[in-house]
Amino acid sequence: MIAKVITDISLDREFDYLVPEELQDKLRPGSAVSVPFGRSCRTGYVLSMAENSSYDPAKLKALNGIASDRPAIPEQLIALGRWIAGYYCATQEHAIRTLLPAAVRSGKVKEKKYRCFFLADKSAAEKYIIENKGNSRLEKRVLVLQMMLRKGEGPRAEFSTETDYSASAFDALCKAGLIACREEAMPDEFDNRIETLPSAPLPPSPDQEKALEQISQILDGKTSSHVQLLYGTTNSGKTEVYLQAIAKVLERGRSAIVLVPEISLTPQTVRRFRARFGDKLSVLHSRLTDRERFDEWNRINSGKVQIAIGARSALFAPFNNLGLIVVDEEHDSSYKQSESPRYHARDVAVMRGKLENAGVILGSATPSAESLYNARQGKFLLCRMAVQVDNKPAPLIRIVDRRLDPAPEAGMSNLLSPVLIHAVEERLERGEQAILFLNRRGYARSLCCPQCGYEARCPECSVNYNYTYSRSREILSCHLCGGVVPAPPACPECGFQEIRYFGSGTEKLESCARGIFSGARIGRMDSDMMRSADDYEVVLDKFRRGKLDILIGTQMIAKGLHFPGVTLVGVVNADLGLSMPDFRAQERTFQMLTQVAGRAGRGDKRGEVIFQTTKDSDVIRFAADLDFDGFSKFDLEFREMLDYPPFTRLIAIFFKGENESAVAAYAAEFAEKLAVYKHDRLRITPPAPAPVEKIRNQYRYLMTVRGNGLKTIREAIRVLALHHTVPAGISVAVDVDAQHLM
Ligand code: ADP
Ligand code: ZN
Repeated sequence: MIAKVITDISLDREFDYLVPEELQDKLRPGSAVSVPFGRSCRTGYVLSMAENSSYDPAKLKALNGIASDRPAIPEQLIALGRWIAGYYCATQEHAIRTLLPAAVRSGKVKEKKYRCFFLADKSAAEKYIIENKGNSRLEKRVLVLQMMLRKGEGPRAEFSTETDYSASAFDALCKAGLIACREEAMPDEFDNRIETLPSAPLPPSPDQEKALEQISQILDGKTSSHVQLLYGTTNSGKTEVYLQAIAKVLERGRSAIVLVPEISLTPQTVRRFRARFGDKLSVLHSRLTDRERFDEWNRINSGKVQIAIGARSALFAPFNNLGLIVVDEEHDSSYKQSESPRYHARDVAVMRGKLENAGVILGSATPSAESLYNARQGKFLLCRMAVQVDNKPAPLIRIVDRRLDPAPEAGMSNLLSPVLIHAVEERLERGEQAILFLNRRGYARSLCCPQCGYEARCPECSVNYNYTYSRSREILSCHLCGGVVPAPPACPECGFQEIRYFGSGTEKLESCARGIFSGARIGRMDSDMMRSADDYEVVLDKFRRGKLDILIGTQMIAKGLHFPGVTLVGVVNADLGLSMPDFRAQERTFQMLTQVAGRAGRGDKRGEVIFQTTKDSDVIRFAADLDFDGFSKFDLEFREMLDYPPFTRLIAIFFKGENESAVAAYAAEFAEKLAVYKHDRLRITPPAPAPVEKIRNQYRYLMTVRGNGLKTIREAIRVLALHHTVPAGISVAVDVDAQHLM
């Protein structure tokens, strides 16, 4: 027998080892093993077993044994890992590594164990009790045996008497062969930090009925596809569909995974699942300690829970009877991992569903172009939910063109138009709440000297991206590398005192709002303010309880939050994202605008939304009409015309290094080697400086390959990037289905 083993070094290579006789029955694909490697030992995972090796069997070494301190990779995940490595051009080791949480893989966290004592020989024990009763020296031993006869087995504490019990009594009884013990896993305490009242399923609306019917058919294997694209307006009852679909899965004795974007994994969301499923639910959020993550993984692996909810990596929850994967907000860009393997959780979910015969629900109010296209091609089943369950009227959305506004008075900030200011004032008078949204943190984006033209910028990063100025902390921070410097009080070049700040952020918006709306209670939420999850909850809680009138924030407040008191949402700079050099800029802007707009009018009163803009834009108009169908037609036409995904597939290859000419030269060499794989359905853009040219002193070059029929060239890219020697000081990152081309 030969075991094919992947070790922990990223060589993208399986090694063959002989399996010693005594391990032949114990080893299976996924087992963690210890293997001789060069002159040392390494831990690895068996990926498969084979009868033969292509190497000379006489030269093969035998593996040392099973690494008992590390859990095995669940067998059903191995095929998924292989697919990830191949499709995303990642090394096998990187792919395998994502299948297990670090806390589990490291072997450092141990399962909590206790010693369970039991009677080894019942009749001997009874005899011992009779013979030694009354012997004061052996009193404790007798007591322990008596209690064990009565209670059966358990931890030592079970058999303690009021007068304490001594460990030596147990030791002596063990030595005498009267009792014995074995190691047992500690039973877990159910995590009930969040108290919830149980909730019952709501009688489904006709739309929900339709969606659930389709899911039943998927679960019974009666449909042409195992994927449902649940395209439902906000408030159309998607979450309720997920809950009832999961209940169906549990009825069939199977398990379910729910993926939500990290930012939406709020206590509010978790509570809805906890209320329906109680302790059948495992919550995998990013703030778990290693110990907690390890325990949750084991609870899932051992079948103690049936549902896992979490962000991207929850996709690898080790259920072995998976029935359903729900991907909520399937369009969300946080589903793409930015490090190798650069997988997209939505796409991997579809693959895992296929491999394990599980259904997949992709839910969104604004589905990605990719998913809509797949639905159109018949790869996914489309289910539309157009009616809002609560029949709330959609908010009234207006576009305010800032170019038509009167020029602001000298010294007055120009962030808010008179229309928006008036609308906020109305809310304040009526005791209602408003949200002001600006997707840029900080006080100002850049700091310039009007006298000499000096512009402050992070010296280590690209010229296109400037510092963000924080006035409260008097610092400039680089949003690319995180570098921080004190803000200069005067121009460092010419000494001019009145340096200026351009491009306002939320901090500026806050101080401006405080000036205009005196007396209003204002809170702010952005990554500068939110140092911990608690900060986040504190501000939200204040706002929810009506202790704040105005909430200012970045995209942190755009998603999923439900505030009945909010009747106005103002988007300060609706066109902000549109100028990004990226074919997804329109899609992201539309999603962002409709999501923020959805925060208005969640209560009884109709909401109002104001989009401020300085550009004419179809995207903003579609968003103002909440016309997703119109937008997606427009966006798909644009992408089709330019041959962008979803009409093609796209692979981005980034080259990085400190020496710019070396990076350029290597990128050119790489491109040349790829050129032989070009065919007429492929476009290759030659390497050029990336839009973000430099981060942390690393120059960045980008080349892209897009088209159809990418299989061969992808394999070539994979081999070039992983198996060919890359010059020292240069790194290559391959991003298949890249979400950003920056
Ligand atoms: P979505 O996830 O599409 O935004 P939700 O599932 O959160 O929608 O539903 C929106 C609101 O409507 C929630 O308050 C939910 O409790 C309620 N709701 C959902 N389905 C029903 C139903 N069948 N009957 C009554 N209320 C419902
Ligand atoms: Zn920087």
